[in-house]
Amino acid sequence: MGRRKLVVGNWKMNGMRAHLDELEAIGRVAAAHPAVEVGLCLPATLIMAGSERRGAAFIGAQNCHMDISGAYTGSLSAEMLCEAGASWVITGHSERREARGETNEDIAAKSAAAHRVGMKVILCVGETIEVRDAGRAEEVVSDQLLASLPEGAAADWLAVAYEPIWAIGTGRIPTMEAVASMHAALRAALASRIGADEAAKVRILYGGSMNGDNAADLMALADVDGGLVGGASLSAAKFAPIIEAAD
Ligand code: PEP
Repeated sequence: MGRRKLVVGNWKMNGMRAHLDELEAIGRVAAAHPAVEVGLCLPATLIMAGSERRGAAFIGAQNCHMDISGAYTGSLSAEMLCEAGASWVITGHSERREARGETNEDIAAKSAAAHRVGMKVILCVGETIEVRDAGRAEEVVSDQLLASLPEGAAADWLAVAYEPIWAIGTGRIPTMEAVASMHAALRAALASRIGADEAAKVRILYGGSMNGDNAADLMALADVDGGLVGGASLSAAKFAPIIEAAD
């Protein structure tokens, strides 16, 4: 099954114009690895300037509103982000599910809004440590995925990122067996909704403390089609080995 690897950095609330030199360097690494699709999801303030210096990397946003316009002070619509230069958007990141109270329904609506304006979506799901320890991770995360999956989800515009919450920014990752098993469970959940043929084409990324030391092992797993990378995507020196591992 020829799924092109997808490696995406999430800069979160990091980055000023001075950091665009790093972005440019990452764009050059992307150009050296055309077999891998590489992107950076930037803070909104950098999307426009970043788009002009992105090289072979795509630029994405980290969130969008579900409506096209309106009285939503401080929010940005998918259409605005797209016009600024973002071709992808992250939806359902745990930092927004947890801190902003975003529901599965919100995430489905945001993902659909992004698709309507021609953007692609990385839909994030993941379990807490309590759920993992209780042995319920696959059941809970599969349910979360199905509940936040937008209508008409398809592989040409939607990727899934499995991000165990307890692995984000902590330096801890699940065992390779646990990652492999979760990704297989998520593909089966997708198949139950969109059919096995379409589910087989959807890229399922791993996210949570991915780095140059663990990326090759993670991406060698059958259903791991790339990574969503936080901390290690802030510098070209740390992000490059992950992109290389995907090639
Ligand atoms: C993330 O927040 O999407 C993430 C994967 O972060 P980190 O790589 O820093 O764990």
